[in-house]
Amino acid sequence: MSSHPEQSAVTVLGLGPMGRALAGAFLDAGLTVTVWNRTPGRDAALVDRGAVGAGSAAEAVAASDLTVVCVVNYDAVDAILRTDAVAAALKGRTVVNLTADTPERARDLDRWAAEHGIGYLDGAIMTPTTTIGTPDGVFIHSGPSDLHQQYRPVLERLGGTHTHLGEEIGRAAAYDIALLDIFWTSMAGWAHALAVAKAEGIGARELAPFAVGIGAILPPLFEQTAAEVADGSYSGEGNPITSAASTMAHVVHASEAHGIDAGVMRAVEGWARRTIGLGHGTDGFLRVAELLGRR
Ligand code: NDP
Repeated sequence: MSSHPEQSAVTVLGLGPMGRALAGAFLDAGLTVTVWNRTPGRDAALVDRGAVGAGSAAEAVAASDLTVVCVVNYDAVDAILRTDAVAAALKGRTVVNLTADTPERARDLDRWAAEHGIGYLDGAIMTPTTTIGTPDGVFIHSGPSDLHQQYRPVLERLGGTHTHLGEEIGRAAAYDIALLDIFWTSMAGWAHALAVAKAEGIGARELAPFAVGIGAILPPLFEQTAAEVADGSYSGEGNPITSAASTMAHVVHASEAHGIDAGVMRAVEGWARRTIGLGHGTDGFLRVAELLGRR
């Protein structure tokens, strides 16, 4: 264990699945861990493993120089932190907020922390609970570099990779939003595909190996099209957006023939058709990103 006092103790606020995983990983790393959760009793297994269960959030944050908070959203963070007792106990200490929410909420909480003399780092976790404490966890952070450097050794006890994305406090949340956008629209595609396939008598297990193949196409496409977006080329060579829009229409028609809502694909086809209408029919599909980004 480190000889720096700020690196040997940590408080975790919020004991949902992710908060419990974080507290458990800190315990495994040999830190003194104090925990608190709004609903009592969720700390039992952690206390059995050596965590200190605090009676209140104020008591919990007073136990460590560093508090990690991970709850459902920033309304919940505000409900926990923005009380006179907790603000007073946090003065001169640091909060790392690993809760997911919007960049604007991160900036708002940062202003509150500064007004109350509290060090504040924002962050997000990009991988499931099972990755916490393993090399597979992905954590992103933003906020003052010196504060991040100071507490990085504690955060690294969670395993995985920790990337400091910059001093602008909203940056981690902005990355989180963009990455969640990819994740949930992909999952929506998978859910919709399962429904359409089922209507055609294809089972989930039958479809899955082919879905994995489609998924594997995406990582190199992200790299390649990012370069095209950066230089504005949006090459449609090999698959122009006119051809892409045609395959989208097939999905819409086949779905609706089974009475399955095709709203998501209809929206995507609409973006493609508008892009074609603006004279970009020979470009690749990613030209829609430019269209969507226009104010
Ligand atoms: P939840 O998102 O369901 O959060 C549950 C926690 O939020 C509990 O501690 C709950 O307390 C607390 N909470 C909810 N409302 C309030 C409130 N009004 N006041 C105080 N506390 C409240 O579960 P997770 O633990 O899984 O997620 C926590 C964060 O981690 C979220 O931002 C999520 O997006 C993020 N995350 C989660 C991942 C996962 O795989 N689970 C993956 C990556 C990120 P109580 O027990 O009292 O209800």
